[in-house]
Amino acid sequence: MSSEIPLSRPDLDESDIESVVAVLRTPELSLGPTGPKFEAAMTGYVGARHAVTVSSGTSGLHLGVIALGLGRGDEVVTTPFSFVASTNCLLFEDVTPVFADIDPDTWDLDPAGAEAAVSPRTRAILPVHVFGRACRIAELTAFARRRGLAVIEDSCESLGTTIDGKATGTYGDFGVFAFYPNKQMTTGEGGMIVTDDERIATLCRSLRNQGRGDGGGWLDHPRLGFNYRLSDIQSALGLSQLRRIETFVALRKSVNDAYREALADVPGIVLPAPDRRGERTSWFVFVVRLADEYGREDRDAVLAHLRSRGVACRNYFVPIHLQPYMRERYGFREGMFPVTERIAERTISLPFHGRLTASEVERVAEALREAVGLRAKRARTG
Ligand SMILES: *Cc1c(COP(=O)(O)O)cnc(C)c1O
Repeated sequence: MSSEIPLSRPDLDESDIESVVAVLRTPELSLGPTGPKFEAAMTGYVGARHAVTVSSGTSGLHLGVIALGLGRGDEVVTTPFSFVASTNCLLFEDVTPVFADIDPDTWDLDPAGAEAAVSPRTRAILPVHVFGRACRIAELTAFARRRGLAVIEDSCESLGTTIDGKATGTYGDFGVFAFYPNKQMTTGEGGMIVTDDERIATLCRSLRNQGRGDGGGWLDHPRLGFNYRLSDIQSALGLSQLRRIETFVALRKSVNDAYREALADVPGIVLPAPDRRGERTSWFVFVVRLADEYGREDRDAVLAHLRSRGVACRNYFVPIHLQPYMRERYGFREGMFPVTERIAERTISLPFHGRLTASEVERVAEALREAVGLRAKRARTG
């Protein structure tokens, strides 16, 4: 039996290791010169005026919510088809999430539905570039501006994705990237806020560093802050990884293409929608879904079969509104966001990273063909 194919894998080389070790040979393991270098490189890469390193994508989103001045009684319109952090960042500040359903083909926040969810208490919208594909951020931003709403852009899954050459993360009041090891590039743990708004950048720098002021001393804290800093050790890894981001994007695109070819003739499988015109997707994961005639049971059986064949896989995402704490707090239940639920019951996230080999792609495709075939046979025979 061949070894298990993992769901993801970071792309590390000797230059990454040397960069980290070089910082370890200095006394400046945090708040040293490497963080600002990583930030400067990121502003150049995405084309934003300011970049602020943070300890994770989640902490970046949290600081952004505070920087916008959102709090109790405020509502933010967002998507239930995402990783929980995109909604949790609102709950941390007692902001009420208001969900709107997704587009059935591209799985991102539907702009018409999002606008319909706006109430007099709405202060911002929070769209997510799900799985790396750009959401309809231009349309979303346009209605937000028209209605005086801020835009929080969760680009934690889309570093490298562009629309007509403009990077995701640079459309909203601020964007946030994340560097957990399964993302396009990694710092182990880490994140980055990008913005053109100097006030937001300055405030986030203070908030990540215990609320310290710009010119003030170590023990001067003009405001309540957090320790959401990224160390120089992590920043060194980030700076080194960012040098190769275009290679990572290209490798991931070629694996995405290979999967599409290998799975094209598998009946019952719906492949991710292709890029819209002008878009370049930096793929975060490769998620397919079962066709509508299959249900959750079929999907779970397919996942089990893939695992039995040594293929790691996952049901990305469980809808946020159906997580136990969300049901309890807000009374959400099944049926409230039918498109999200229909998609989420059928998704299968397959092994995906830039170094996946052609034979691994073939092995995954074969296991999937087998698994779906078994379900289809079961359906025919009752
Ligand atoms: C990864 C991710 C985050 C942030 O994750 P961290 O693990 O905190 O870095 C936020 N939103 C989405 C949609 C993500 O995929």
